[in-house]
Parts: sequence; C-alpha cells; structure tokens
Amino acid sequence: MSEERTELENLGEFGLIDRLTNKFEKKNNSTVFGIGDDAAVIALSDTESTLISTDMLIEGVHFNLMYMPLKHLGYKAIAANVSDICAMNGIAEQVTVSIAVSNRFPVEALEELYDGIKTACDRYKVDLIGGDTASSLSGLTISISVLGRVNTELITYRSGAKEHDLIIVSGDLGAAYVGLQVLEREKEVYNANPNIQPDLDGHDYIIERQLKPEARLDIIGFLKELDVVPTSMIDISDGLASEVLHICKSSKVGCHIYDEKIPIDGTTSMTAIEFNLDPNTCAMNGGEDYELLFTIAQSDYEKIKGNPHMTVIGHITHEQDGTYYVDKNASAIELKAQGWNHF
Ligand code: ADP
Ligand code: MG
Repeated sequence: MSEERTELENLGEFGLIDRLTNKFEKKNNSTVFGIGDDAAVIALSDTESTLISTDMLIEGVHFNLMYMPLKHLGYKAIAANVSDICAMNGIAEQVTVSIAVSNRFPVEALEELYDGIKTACDRYKVDLIGGDTASSLSGLTISISVLGRVNTELITYRSGAKEHDLIIVSGDLGAAYVGLQVLEREKEVYNANPNIQPDLDGHDYIIERQLKPEARLDIIGFLKELDVVPTSMIDISDGLASEVLHICKSSKVGCHIYDEKIPIDGTTSMTAIEFNLDPNTCAMNGGEDYELLFTIAQSDYEKIKGNPHMTVIGHITHEQDGTYYVDKNASAIELKAQGWNHF
C-alpha cells in the first residue's frame, strides 16, 4: 500500500467503481457485456442471452426499519432487482438472496422478510435458487442477485440512443420520494410522542410507491406487443436527471427534457407542495420510482402515441448540443444529477 490517501467522497460512486475495475480485462468470449449497464450480458445460445445484476441493501443507509416493515423490504428488494432486468428488455427468472443479521432480529422477523420476498417472487414469477446467511455485528444487510433472459436482438443497452430519438418514461415520477417525506415526518411525530397515531390519510398512493414499488414488467410486455424495441433503456432508481445523464453519457448524445411533460401524479404534486418542495424537483432528483426511461426512433412514435403508460418527455440531440432541461418559460437549464449520493 502506498502512503497516498484518497477520500471516497472525492471519487463518488461511479469514479470509485471505475478506479477499482478498470484494470480487469475480459477473458471469456461468453462475457458479452460487463460493467456499466443495468445488468451484465452473458451469451446463452444462438438467439438468447442471460442477464445478471446484483444489489446490496444496508440498514440505516438504504432502509429504515422504523417505517419500513420487513415484509415490504423483502418485496421491494426483489422488485428493484427485477427492474434492472426489465431495463435490459429482459425477463427475470431466478434470484439468490444473501442476508447478514445481528441477534437483534428474532426468527419471526426474518420470516416476515421472506414473506415479502416470496410475494414478489410469485408476482414476478422468479425462482429463489440460493443465497448465503451470515451474522452481522449490527443491523441487517441484504444482497440479491437476479438472473434473467432476453432474446439477444432485443437487448436494450444504455448506449443506443440516437439524435432525434424520443425520450419516454413509464408511469409517473416523484411519488416514492414524496412518500418518503410523509413517512419521515410521521417518524418524527412518533419519536416526539409515541402515543400519537401516524397520520397517513390521503397519502396511500405515494406511501405505497415508497414501500411497495413495482418493477415495470408490464411495460416490457407492452413494448413486445407493440413491436417496439427501444434504442436505449435504464430504470429510474436515482431520479430522472441522473438516469437521463447516464443514457446521454453512454450513448454520446445530448437531450432536451421538457419540464411540463414530466408525468407527476396529482397527489404527489399536492403533497410535495405541502412540504414546500417543487414537484418537478422531486421527479428529477427523488429516487426509487423504478419506472423505465427509454428512447425510441421517431418512426415508432405512432405505435406508442396515446398509450396511457408511456409519456414522451423530450428528445435526443447531438452530443455537442448538451444535456438540457427546458422549463415552463422555455429557458434551458443544464441537467445536473443530484440523486442519492451514497458517499
Ligand atoms: P444500478 O444503479 O443499475 O444498480 P450501479 O450504479 O450499482 O447500477 O452500478 C453500475 C455498474 O457498476 C454496474 O454494471 C455494476 O455491476 C458495476 N459495479 C458496481 N459496483 C461494483 C464493484 N464493487 N465491483 C465491480 N463492479 C461493480
Ligand atoms: Mg438500474
């Protein structure tokens, strides 16, 4: 070890991953695509590929058991992994689940976690095929790997967006983040006085979006039915701004996203305003919506036009034109990712 000391915060998450992995060379032909997308791609047969992705959730960093019931946590962990396979236009088929637990947790609590895992596995039709169990000194850590399958011709990387393509999102955005604000507020109220019952009335939709998000497997089905293969795709786990920038960087293109086109549910907007938050900021920089962000060729527009599950929010431009967010006054603001920064 040299004497040099670089702080993690100087590199950031992606800088760190790059620094640790850039000396690794590909040794096997079966490794089609490794680091840098929602899932890695492995050759399976002449026509099909295996997809694999892995994710780690740490108590106190990614979840707080004060308002996240273990059953929901289990469900959400599977949904988030299935979502990464969806982002490659694939179908998840297997998961492995590894846990590290402290003796703070009774067996019944872990059974609850696995109840949620099972509900999600049933819903998304994936098989639990293994994992690992270890003890931890404090708290709970969950690590999940997911395997999926995709017709090789239909794989959607982050890198395929072309100038003039349309930028589309599924569903609506910002709800999970605003739901988290409601849960945090009620936690504060509870901490101050445990006799007060949480007031979650009228916030069902956004709280469900935070506690029980769904992977958009249905969108993968719709795209197939409509005969649309996106030119690029990513799932929205860190906020729209950060994900749009990932696509633009990987595809070496620019973009224009239109503020007023971003789909936000009415209860999300109302509650955001209650918290003095701008609803669009919640959509751009809030996380955990698990919607899909993708680009399509303009020639496919007729196929998705009027589809209630998909909204065109902008278009791809030349790389030199930059990455911009156009607000209601038609002024263009440079896109910045302010999503979760784990360091
Ligand atoms: P996502 O947001 O879709 O979960 P990440 O941002 O976690 O993806 O990771 C970006 C890429 O870096 C992925 O291809 C992932 O597999 C890879 N990666 C992340 N951490 C490591 C690591 N410690 N070692 C090797 N590869 C990593
Ligand atoms: Mg992802």
